[in-house]
Amino acid sequence: AFEVLVVGGGPAGASAAIYAARKGLRTGVLADKFGGQVSETVGIENFISVKSTEGSKLVANLEAHVRDYDVDVMDNNKAVALRKNGLFEVELANGAVLKSRTVLLATGARWREMNVPGEQQYRGKGVAYCPHCDGPLFRGKKVAVIGGGNSGIEAAIDLANIVEHVTVLEFDSKLRADEVLQRKANSMGNITIITQAMTTEVLGNGKQVTGLNYTDRATGDSHHVELAGIFVQIGLVPNSEWLKDTIELTPRGEIIVDGQGQTSQPGVFAAGDVTNSAYKQIIIAMGSGATASLGAFDYLIRNSEE
Ligand code: FAD
Repeated sequence: AFEVLVVGGGPAGASAAIYAARKGLRTGVLADKFGGQVSETVGIENFISVKSTEGSKLVANLEAHVRDYDVDVMDNNKAVALRKNGLFEVELANGAVLKSRTVLLATGARWREMNVPGEQQYRGKGVAYCPHCDGPLFRGKKVAVIGGGNSGIEAAIDLANIVEHVTVLEFDSKLRADEVLQRKANSMGNITIITQAMTTEVLGNGKQVTGLNYTDRATGDSHHVELAGIFVQIGLVPNSEWLKDTIELTPRGEIIVDGQGQTSQPGVFAAGDVTNSAYKQIIIAMGSGATASLGAFDYLIRNSEE
């Protein structure tokens, strides 16, 4: 059996595994796809101490760093159930069961997509999901933000300081963002907010986004907006569906953790985007992976009889 079984091979899981292995604990990493969201990222400019890198390079570095330790990396394996049976048991999609004294959940999250034509084709070529990450790539250009909730309006305010103009498209007849954010957005000269707008298509020239089409749900009319970037802000979905009967989650499905990264189940820890951490970034996921791993170490030395 493992002492620490990490589920997830993104930045949170990699960091947790290295911290556990450095404590001399028998450590395993189970990942559906090692690298996580970082594999889908092109430019990364906010991983502190590395001025600029690419997702594929960072993933290769993460994997090399993890493999430098005695860690059992099990890639291309999906966890489907977690239970306690003396030890913790993690069941895999292929039916195998892994046993461990502690489990560290780092299964990340995925952006909710619009599911319109062009979105996949232009992902990373103008279609973006993270304003903190990709905002500066659109300096001086026109962009849209899809979604008028808190994250959408925050993104619009953030982007308006960098880009030439921001068009916010909200499906509903009113914005769901907090009043204070709406006031701030309305006070900025280069944000246009359009409600009852259903985005129908992302358009491009084969290489880059050039615009989008939307339907005005009040009139049924179709409209075109020319722009270089589209920030989709309609929610982040935590990869926690398989845990909902075993671990306490927020209504949005995020795993609730305490200051040591421990979940509602003693001995089960969690880190990164799958948790209720306030912000979702690589450096934050790595920090919380380290926290949860040290939390697991602490748990193991206090429960050594188990
Ligand atoms: P993830 O990276 O999501 O990794 C989750 C891991 O868990 C993966 O290995 C996955 O395969 C695995 N997994 C999921 N479910 C299961 C299961 N049931 N069984 C086994 N394994 C499972 N952040 C920045 O700081 N800077 C940036 O420039 C930046 N750009 C981004 C660009 C894009 C396009 C995206 C999508 C995100 C970007 N982010 C950026 C955010 C950043 O990637 C995330 O905050 C970070 O990757 C979260 O790390 P994580 O380890 O918690 O989860």
